[in-house]
Amino acid sequence: MTERFTGSFTQQEPIPEEGIAAALEVMRHGRLHRYNTAPGEVAEAARLEEEFAALTGAKYCLALASGGAAMAIALRALGVGPGDKVLTNAFTLAPVPGAIAAVGAEPVYVEVTEALVIDLDDLAAKLAQAQVLLLSHMRGHLCDMDRLMRLCDGAGVTVIEDCAHTMGAAWNGVPSGRHGGMGCYSAQTYKHINSGEGGLLISDDAEAMARAVILSGSYMLYERHGAAPAREVFERVKYLTPNMSSRVDNLRAALLRPQLKALPEQVVRWNARYRAMEAGLAGVPGLTLIPRPGQESYVGSSIQFLLLDWPPDAVQGVIAGCAGRGVELKWFGGAEPHGFTSRYDSWRYAPVPSLPRTDRVLAGLLDMRLPLTFSLDDCALIARILAEEVAARAPARDAAE
Ligand SMILES: *Cc1c(COP(=O)(O)O)cnc(C)c1O
Repeated sequence: MTERFTGSFTQQEPIPEEGIAAALEVMRHGRLHRYNTAPGEVAEAARLEEEFAALTGAKYCLALASGGAAMAIALRALGVGPGDKVLTNAFTLAPVPGAIAAVGAEPVYVEVTEALVIDLDDLAAKLAQAQVLLLSHMRGHLCDMDRLMRLCDGAGVTVIEDCAHTMGAAWNGVPSGRHGGMGCYSAQTYKHINSGEGGLLISDDAEAMARAVILSGSYMLYERHGAAPAREVFERVKYLTPNMSSRVDNLRAALLRPQLKALPEQVVRWNARYRAMEAGLAGVPGLTLIPRPGQESYVGSSIQFLLLDWPPDAVQGVIAGCAGRGVELKWFGGAEPHGFTSRYDSWRYAPVPSLPRTDRVLAGLLDMRLPLTFSLDDCALIARILAEEVAARAPARDAAE
């Protein structure tokens, strides 16, 4: 019998009841704008900032309208402007080069390895070209952050971490987002906490963070923030920093606060699903799993594998075969951008370099979300379907081994 999967790859879990109750409360009192507070009231947005700073160990936190806004504001707060170059890994999502373009800067793409992380040798060769690296922990894979920070510190390059897929992850015990100068997170529906749209920015750098708060659209109400620098820091930057209107509102903050509390349990549940998938895909001919180093504690909210050096029509055959059995795969090797998936050579508002190693990896890269609405049995079923569809098309040299 041919098995089929009938679940949805885009169905999230509901908002926790506590978040629904808190959101109803905000709607009942009507003070949705973060600076609209009753006497003595601390806004939900300010509380969210305090709680996320505590969770990550950062001195300062700013809640924002999106992860993309967090990245653009981080770049601008660190002084990146028109004509500047910003290093970034070539395997990422469109909002990353988008944030660089938003401040008038230009991305310098760094190659990606077969482990789906930034190629540190290529980075070392390109470090002299920029003062900032916007490092995207794409699909939750962390590179050797100790080596990366040694390289960047040695060259005076400031690191901004894009933690859209690594909220709750760590390298060598240091939370993702706490290695570089600033860390950016997303609360968009498909990330680790869900308010539809939303972002968080953390840092220990008082002056950059004061600029970020004003850039976010605080007007002169920055003292109403939950985990912000002292007033005198704002005094130094307030006349020189524009307002980019990227605030979060109390409704979204109310939805997020209980989700932050539940994050550690959710990470355990994601990783159980990830490991079920990984076990089901181990040893499939022609399929390469992505190694997970011992120093990395990851959040398995999606899984990737490589059909390395397969002919494109064979990869497309696997995608079609899986789709016919209810399993949705995203392919980074397609010539045209599709859905959420695009690649560096589709971002033609910026120079498109030649990156042969990245091209080879992306040509064989398949990606799948693992929403928490999947059961462990669902994961085992999906893995069986994938294994059959891949094995049936594996190039002969693998079959002969
Ligand atoms: C989603 C995402 C972002 C941006 O988040 P938004 O909140 O949607 O703006 C940034 N980087 C990566 C890798 C993402 O997946």
